[in-house]
Amino acid sequence: METGLVDSLLREERVFRPQPQVVREANMGQAELKAAQTLARQDYRLFWEERAAEMDWFAKWDQVLDDSNPPFYKWFSGGKCNLVHNALDRHILTVNKNKLAVIWEGESGECRKYTYYELYREVCRLANALRGLGVQKGDRILIYLPPLPETVITMLAAAKIGAVQTLVFAGYSARSLRERIESCRPKIIVTADGFYRNGRVINLKSVVDEALFGEDADCAESVIVVHRAGVETDMVEPRDLRYEDLIRQESPQAPTEVMDAEDPLFLLYTSGATGKPKGLLHTHGGYMVGVHATYRWVMDVKPTDLYLCTADPGWITGHSYVVFGPLMAGTTVVLYEGHPLYPQADRLWAIVARYGVTILYTTPTLIRMLMRYGSQYPRKHDLSTLRLLGSVGEPIGPEPWVWFHKYIGRSECPLLDTWWQTETGMFMVSPLPISLLKPGSAGRPLPGVEVDVVDRHGNPAGHDKGGFVVIRKPWPAMARTLWNDDQGYRQAYWEKIPGVYFAGDVARKDEDGYFWFQGRADDVLNIGGHRIGPAEVEAALTAHKSVVEAAVIGVPDSIKGEAAKCFVVRAEGWNKDYDSEDELIMALKAHVKRELGPFVSIRAIAFREQLPHTKSGKILRRLLKAEETGAAPGDLSSLEEE
Ligand code: ATP
Ligand code: MG
Repeated sequence: METGLVDSLLREERVFRPQPQVVREANMGQAELKAAQTLARQDYRLFWEERAAEMDWFAKWDQVLDDSNPPFYKWFSGGKCNLVHNALDRHILTVNKNKLAVIWEGESGECRKYTYYELYREVCRLANALRGLGVQKGDRILIYLPPLPETVITMLAAAKIGAVQTLVFAGYSARSLRERIESCRPKIIVTADGFYRNGRVINLKSVVDEALFGEDADCAESVIVVHRAGVETDMVEPRDLRYEDLIRQESPQAPTEVMDAEDPLFLLYTSGATGKPKGLLHTHGGYMVGVHATYRWVMDVKPTDLYLCTADPGWITGHSYVVFGPLMAGTTVVLYEGHPLYPQADRLWAIVARYGVTILYTTPTLIRMLMRYGSQYPRKHDLSTLRLLGSVGEPIGPEPWVWFHKYIGRSECPLLDTWWQTETGMFMVSPLPISLLKPGSAGRPLPGVEVDVVDRHGNPAGHDKGGFVVIRKPWPAMARTLWNDDQGYRQAYWEKIPGVYFAGDVARKDEDGYFWFQGRADDVLNIGGHRIGPAEVEAALTAHKSVVEAAVIGVPDSIKGEAAKCFVVRAEGWNKDYDSEDELIMALKAHVKRELGPFVSIRAIAFREQLPHTKSGKILRRLLKAEETGAAPGDLSSLEEE
């Protein structure tokens, strides 16, 4: 019978041991980890209850986990809290009051800094203004903003007054924005006149006008416009309001709404790598507990840290680990508005050096892009303040891992590949700073979460067999449902394999229990009966020095059922090593066979100047597949126009 298992071909033998000082000083040291794992195994409810007790609550919960109506789990039912109380209000009473919360750098070079107290006052002002506009608990606020201090302020103010926020990435079109408006019916939209991206001014407000054109008036009663780029905008009376006018007279004190643990905090659409973006709903209580704990363990934050994450606040990484997690931990966050390569390939390194960034969390796509420009750019800057690196979003692959670790992390900083999703809300599989690191592996599941690899029927795949990634037990930061679509939530995640959460990814676990992600279940190739994860073939290709990025898809083959077709972005200077494209193609085919074994036959290799990506920077394989096979590509609203 078809098991759905995936072959595993990639073998990576290198290991990196943590520095003694990192081990000594880690928030989650060996002893704590042992204790956490033991408790989590014995009683994971008690384990998470202890984590919840590390936060401030207005009233304690009656029950840690209510699992009476699966898959609609509830955490900390009866508890009263507000994430913003933990992210902001409580810091005002401690030494964090005058600590920097946010350092913002605009693409054009300007800088704004906010202490926790200043941020608190701004959030209170906006909270009062929103209340003045009639926003009540449960009303939706749609935030269509680039990374600006006002983005953070609006996110916190919305949560503070109990509104449900939806961020829409500022690169989305009027049509995508309108779809989200129609789905969540926001009372208020917060946007900006414009912003800077790659040296250009993007006119943002006009996109909102277009999206709202003809929209009935019970939705988006007000559009609040932040002044950022000095773009002329048509202000529609009385709908449109200037952010600065709105808050000018407001008091810098405002009460924080008392929320039930299960009250919604935000609604967020996924990045759309596999299909139409799905709107996932997250709540205050469980989410704040899960994000807070995992941020402290993995990013290992200390009071002196300066933290930079390159994700846009509009993605889940931006929610959990640019804004909410770091602020709950009292960290100083560096927020950058613009393009990471503007005006040239060392912008990120200049930012690290300018502020003395200690923790850098980014994506494989950006790492590959930076690799392409070579190590001369990082070498121009003092990166010695960095002490911890992270990656998220796609399988990173061993070679980009090693490059990042060596040239940015001085072969010293722990590089943590974190696997998680919009749906999980928090890190699920990740090494800790004290872990032994294997390049290309995301390490093991964190304490309190039970992630496994199984076949189509839910049986464990066993060591070194690839299979479906599932989660066996509920976890506090899990999404509660799809917006207005309980049935869709059940079908997409809980009915594919009985009794477990189906993540939609494939991976293998090695003999040490380390996870090696192989790509999306939808993208698995079937070559002559062998199921192969695209990420392994892509990693093999990227290990070749003439390749910077690769995408692999299955195309129909009359003999083998399917064959691999590869799309490759070449490295600068490839033609010094090869006389012709044909010669390079032959070399790459032989290289992949050598790395992965003889049956990975590659039908064709096509060279591209760039690969199609989602707006969040992930390779959009289904578009390549559609172009190749003539099939419908599906929803392309997430495609980044490059
Ligand atoms: P959609 O669900 O709409 O296709 P998406 O899955 O890209 O979009 P996200 O929730 O932002 O939306 O991304 C989560 C996915 O990203 C994971 O399911 C996985 O495929 C991939 N991913 C994230 N981190 C890692 C990682 N460290 N290693 C491998 N894959 C990762
Ligand atoms: Mg997904």
